Amino acid sequence: MKRTNVVRLIPDKNTRPVLKILGDRCAALWNAAQYQMRQAFFQGLPVPSYAKLCEEFQDHDAYKALPSDMAQEILKKAHQSWNAFFACLRLYRNGKLENRPHIPGYWKDRKTGQRFFKVIPVKSPRSYSLAARFLSVTLPADLRDNGRLVVPARGILKFSGKPRTLEIKYDQVKKRWYAFQVVEMPEPDCKPKPVKVAGVDLGTRTLAALAVEGIDNQILFSGREVWKDFLYWSKRISAEQSRLNKAGRKTSRSLKLLYRARSKRLNHAFEALAKEIARRLKANKVTMLYLEDLTGIRADMDFGPGNLLVHNFWAFRMLRKAIEAACLKVGIQVVPVEPRGTSSYCAVCGTRLDRFMRNKAYCSHCGLVWHADANAALNILLKGSSKGHGVKAAPQRPQVLRWNRHRWESRLESAVGTPFKAANSVPEAA
Ligand SMILES: [Zn+2]
Repeated sequence: MKRTNVVRLIPDKNTRPVLKILGDRCAALWNAAQYQMRQAFFQGLPVPSYAKLCEEFQDHDAYKALPSDMAQEILKKAHQSWNAFFACLRLYRNGKLENRPHIPGYWKDRKTGQRFFKVIPVKSPRSYSLAARFLSVTLPADLRDNGRLVVPARGILKFSGKPRTLEIKYDQVKKRWYAFQVVEMPEPDCKPKPVKVAGVDLGTRTLAALAVEGIDNQILFSGREVWKDFLYWSKRISAEQSRLNKAGRKTSRSLKLLYRARSKRLNHAFEALAKEIARRLKANKVTMLYLEDLTGIRADMDFGPGNLLVHNFWAFRMLRKAIEAACLKVGIQVVPVEPRGTSSYCAVCGTRLDRFMRNKAYCSHCGLVWHADANAALNILLKGSSKGHGVKAAPQRPQVLRWNRHRWESRLESAVGTPFKAANSVPEAA
């Protein structure tokens, strides 16, 4: 299992130019390698393999200008970019991709023709060391007057494991430097436990409905606050866009910052939701989670305020991925389930339901009123489980959790007031 540590780098006036030189040399080697591969492709020849590239570039000036651990990693990345391109091309030719993929390009500005800084990759911890306070990197011979390059770092190394590759990047929007370190972690040990299952149904008004085997109360994560926040940032984005339009511009740093704020805030809510699900599943000793497969997402789905998300299918993928990752982390197996029909039938008796209100569904056989999403979650659980869901006949009132922009809380908690809220109720200084 691979995880990534991210720390911020704080280069000073001495180290910043060195990073820029390294980045420029990386771009030079990348461009040289891409030139070779593009030429081969255009002439209908096989694109050189990684081993062939290493052999060909060994004596190249751009290769020798870098420490071998950086040069090799650049060639590897260049080669991987072609692998990805060919994989996309196959999908496109089989009609599984809408647009034809572009061939890998150069790291240079189209208008000015100038090379630009993209990334400094370091192959292995032989050539770097990263601690919470600093990063040190091997330098090429001509820059090595003071040994390694040492840059102060800020941040926490969240994952400890076997260190692998490292990448140094400059974030153009934030105007900050970052280092990304990949670490290899041991797989969580999955001791054989008695199988216990749960099901999750995804949606918009209710982002996720969770049903656990043998537990009468389902849990609903309300999407209301999350979409309200999303809408607020969308409005700010369109205001900035119209301002730019008037000025005859297409983009700006503040537009990029707004886009980033919107997706980061959405992601925050999703990650917290996923963590909360994983926490509850672990507490209930669940071993397997049935998760709605989005490829067959329901056509009758209710698309939040102002049909905002009709085209934003990516949001569901993001939510799904977050839930999968959080569950895998605590050793819960995730199994995709085809969601067809899960909202149309009663989870207790299987009778076709009458959806008389947006959220409510009535079963004429049991004479029960279901919360539609809680029922769907139970049906997803049933699709995978051979034992049944173990829920008593009468659906209980599901527990609703709301996003307070920091964590998911139940109505009860929000009424009592959490310590955070108490601290927050002190009037803010303007
Ligand atoms: Zn029924």
